[in-house]
Amino acid sequence: FTGRDRYVGSTPQEVLHSVFGYPDFRGLQVQAVDCIMRGDDTLVLMPTGGGKSICYQVPALCRAGMGLVVSPLIALMDDQVASLRQVGINAAALHSELESEDAFRIRTELTAGKIDILYVSPERLLSEGTLEQLTQQRISVIAIDEAHCISAWGHEFRPEYRALAALPRYFPNTPRIALTATADQRTRDDILTALDMPHALVLLSSFHRPNLNIAALPKASEMRQLVIALERHREEACIVYCGSRARTERVAASLRDKGWAALAFHAGLSPLEKRAALLRFRSGEPIVIVATVAFGMGIDRPDVRAVIHLDMPASPEAYYQQIGRAGRDGLSSDTLLLYGGEDMARARYWLDQSNAPDTEKRIMGSRLEAMIALTETTGCRTQALLHSFGETLEKPCGHCDNCRHPVVTFDGTEAARKFLSAVYRTGQKYGALHVIAVLRGKRTEATDRNQHEILSVWGIGKDKPEHFWRSVARQLIARGALRSDGQYGGLALNQNAARPILRGEETIQLRADATAELEKGSANRE
Ligand code: ADP
Ligand code: ZN
Repeated sequence: FTGRDRYVGSTPQEVLHSVFGYPDFRGLQVQAVDCIMRGDDTLVLMPTGGGKSICYQVPALCRAGMGLVVSPLIALMDDQVASLRQVGINAAALHSELESEDAFRIRTELTAGKIDILYVSPERLLSEGTLEQLTQQRISVIAIDEAHCISAWGHEFRPEYRALAALPRYFPNTPRIALTATADQRTRDDILTALDMPHALVLLSSFHRPNLNIAALPKASEMRQLVIALERHREEACIVYCGSRARTERVAASLRDKGWAALAFHAGLSPLEKRAALLRFRSGEPIVIVATVAFGMGIDRPDVRAVIHLDMPASPEAYYQQIGRAGRDGLSSDTLLLYGGEDMARARYWLDQSNAPDTEKRIMGSRLEAMIALTETTGCRTQALLHSFGETLEKPCGHCDNCRHPVVTFDGTEAARKFLSAVYRTGQKYGALHVIAVLRGKRTEATDRNQHEILSVWGIGKDKPEHFWRSVARQLIARGALRSDGQYGGLALNQNAARPILRGEETIQLRADATAELEKGSANRE
């Protein structure tokens, strides 16, 4: 490395070309770079894979001084540092997992003004020693990566990020650039307020990822659905997201039994196990990673061909970010969300029970409802997803599941009334399976014990198969006519939404699930 500031005097275009080897800036990169070159603050919202790093790396080199990048994840920092060093940039990362001799070496180079770009975790940055050392240096730009971590409404809130508001006091004339892939208005406003940069130039790029084929299916038999989805990607890399650690272990083990190279990944693994899993994932071999959301930020393998959710994410933002890990090389990739009524009801229940402040609960609640609406949408899923970020896609995408197989709907008023009545007559305390047994007049130990065969609703739904009723139950939950009471999954009526249906004041259209081959006669094409 031949000394800092060697690119001062070169244009951003020259640096992009000579250092990074790219012919042109992509999308909003030009605007972001120009803004920093002028010395102004900016907030860049770009989807994962959009090319956020170039936005600060190029001006960090063109402007005098060292680039300072705040980043929340060690894996992310180490990746970036490695690829910068490969192109001859002296980059380094200060974080808690450094060997003490490395930390010492970095600090020595820092003092000597030799480092081009320094990555640092927020905790490290704001510790006494580091700040003192940094304020002695000239800083070309301060980049705050994954800036949504500053927002308490965000799905990845990190309290340490709040302290970054103090940065301008230490580096008064240094332009700042905040970057994130979470684009909703609330998070955006929150970032600008928390970083105290009301006049920052906001650069919002399209979140459309035309190479992602979005699909969602109601859960029928989960493992079978998973295997069918993976089958199309035998020799490729896939990520399967689950809601809990235990589940990732179970699913990974079960996939291995079936002959897949599958690994569980979650926050409970030891650092050694994590590293081993990441190495295998990055090696390029075919692999299925079965992970919690702990597997994510900064994990960069361009050729992930499928992302499959066995549990519903808590918000469209989280969902987008997770499916966004597929197809970063731009090639066509599949995503599949498996969802169920019980999951929705449970998610609502736990949110309701949580100790979070009311305002926060309201926002998390509205995101959850947006996510539920997304699963049940009968129109183009890509349009619906982008719409939840305030972006309009003019035409249907043409390659999501709903575009390829237009959803068939039917008049579900009668079925809904029957189901709601059965919930009511059985006392609003049983799960969907029991209610369905009553509707279909199928005796079970529980129906016998409660003498449910004497109810007026006994057997009134025996003309329809079980999966039909499961679909009805799920859609009634999704539209809020039913809720789940407590952890046992007992269903109860939400009076406001249920009453008009029961009284016959409201007719409702239900979607005929692809898995539930419904009576062809009553179904009509939309
Ligand atoms: P993000 O941080 O937004 O997820 P990255 O900064 O990691 O995205 O960039 C994603 C990919 O796009 C990287 O492989 C990067 O090398 C590539 N890339 C970024 N900018 C350009 C460009 N101007 N031309 C070509 N490729 C680019
Ligand atoms: Zn579509």
